[in-house]
Amino acid sequence: MSQPNPPISLEFFPPKTPAGVTKLAAVRQQLYGLKPQFCSVTYGAGGSTQDGTFAAVKAIIEEGFEAAPHFSCIGASKESIRAKLAEFKVHGIRRIVALRGDLPSGYGGSNGEFHYASDLVAFIRAETGDNFHIEVAAYPEMHPQSRSPQADLQAYVAKVKAGASSALTQMFFNADAYFRFVDEARALGAEVPVVPGIMPITNASGIIRFADSCGADMPRWIRLRLQGFGDDAESIKAFGLDVIAMLCDQLRAGGAPGLHFYTMNQSVATLELMRRLG
Ligand code: FAD
Repeated sequence: MSQPNPPISLEFFPPKTPAGVTKLAAVRQQLYGLKPQFCSVTYGAGGSTQDGTFAAVKAIIEEGFEAAPHFSCIGASKESIRAKLAEFKVHGIRRIVALRGDLPSGYGGSNGEFHYASDLVAFIRAETGDNFHIEVAAYPEMHPQSRSPQADLQAYVAKVKAGASSALTQMFFNADAYFRFVDEARALGAEVPVVPGIMPITNASGIIRFADSCGADMPRWIRLRLQGFGDDAESIKAFGLDVIAMLCDQLRAGGAPGLHFYTMNQSVATLELMRRLG
């Protein structure tokens, strides 16, 4: 059923410098007016940003909002995951985005006690019961390393059956791919809410590169127009706003249970989009 104003959530990445930390704190204040249901903070599978993730999550909780660390398991031991879960509990974290994470280059699959995100979800549930709301990743256009859409859908269903509470999707431009994914997952018994991940378009080359790297299909008409604007940043932003607002409208009209914004630690594009969406 269509919801006129589904809840929104916001995603940030951990800044690498003190100036970045200060800037992100200001960006969060600008975005809190949107009353996000929660804010999530990404996590570097290689370990470089884990402390930054935790620091940002703690700051968000102190500011009075729910915060969810992204938490990847590749290469981790059960002991280290157990210790992190205990730390999360102590700091009042109630929501986790549970991921496998990207495989480090040269990864042979022998390190670590977790192979897939479903292993992490099952472990969190076995260790902590219902303490955490567990989000998992969903790929309406298939995870780029998967053998086939069917295999990837089965992998998603396995995460839900292992105990995931809801899902956040990879960015996409085709609402049909999202709705089909949701229908197919439901038909296989995975009924948890699947919240679309929305990437505002602010820069042509950046969004084209990112879409290509994560396997999101950018329709030809969007790609060609973005490329045609050259260095005209204002036209790119205006066009990007039209395209993503239209996508959000389609998603809301079709009953998407929320919108998760990849803010890229910027406030303007997300605020503009929300203004456009009323
Ligand atoms: P999984 O669900 O484990 O899937 C990984 C691959 O394995 C897929 O191809 C799947 O089809 C396959 N697979 C799963 N189970 C099986 C099985 N039993 N047998 C065979 N194949 C199987 N990365 C980060 O490093 N940090 C982040 O903070 C981060 N945040 C993200 C947030 C969102 C919303 C999304 C969509 C992605 C995010 N990522 C992040 C990227 C993510 O880590 C990568 O896409 C990663 O390669 C897969 O993680 P996953 O949790 O989806 O893995």
